[in-house]
Amino acid sequence: MAFLELDNLRKEFGDLVAVDGVSLSIEEGQFVTIVGPSGCGKSTILRSITGLETPSSGEIRLEGTDITELPAYRRNIGLVFQDYALFPHKTVFENVAFGLKMRGAPKAEQRERVEEMLEMVNLEGYQEKYPEECSGGEQQRIAVARAIAFDPDLVLMDEPLSNLDKNLRTSIRSELRRIQDETGVTTVYVTHNQNEALSLGDKLAVMNDGHLEQFDDPETVYRNPQTRFVADFLGRST
Ligand code: ADP
Ligand code: MG
Repeated sequence: MAFLELDNLRKEFGDLVAVDGVSLSIEEGQFVTIVGPSGCGKSTILRSITGLETPSSGEIRLEGTDITELPAYRRNIGLVFQDYALFPHKTVFENVAFGLKMRGAPKAEQRERVEEMLEMVNLEGYQEKYPEECSGGEQQRIAVARAIAFDPDLVLMDEPLSNLDKNLRTSIRSELRRIQDETGVTTVYVTHNQNEALSLGDKLAVMNDGHLEQFDDPETVYRNPQTRFVADFLGRST
């Protein structure tokens, strides 16, 4: 049994089919990247997994349990979105501790865990700062710490690096990979960037126009594209 399963997931907005029958099986501890052009349905899939969108049909199962209709607040999922900003009026400590506090963790545990998380993202000593005192790259690392701090079942990241400049993107990308290795948290990472897609995950899902074109390890997808679209999109001809 896979850890996270999308079973023939479909989402329509009026006449528009945003996600057109996507099935994916993700193992516990995997880092899965979903890549595809803008508008192909990547965010809609992540929003369905978090419970921010209700699929038109199909099922989402976590550890075998159907969570398709489970309210978002009852899912134990960490989020890092491009525009899912930090709380501006909360300190870095309060931001990272947020999920722990919501779940009723005692103060001492919050302090210990926040310290551990900030160390992990190389931001020791940032507890009392406010988001506006931190750079864009630091803010996204704080967002990553916040998403992982409460020990979620899953972490979902939707283009978390696309507002950062190229150098920063490359360095945070390898940091993300290290953090995922260290924590072992199952991660689904969405991007439209081919380089990120090929370098980041254990598995790569390529999407086009609401459907899945190919799902395999990145090396295989790159070397043996199964469709013309995959070959063209990843810049290698069949
Ligand atoms: P991606 O993240 O790959 O860029 P999205 O999942 O955001 O793609 O969007 C897929 C398609 O669904 C797009 O055509 C988009 O315009 C449409 N869409 C997404 N959300 C909504 C919505 N709430 N209402 C109407 N159309 C939407
Ligand atoms: Mg998107």
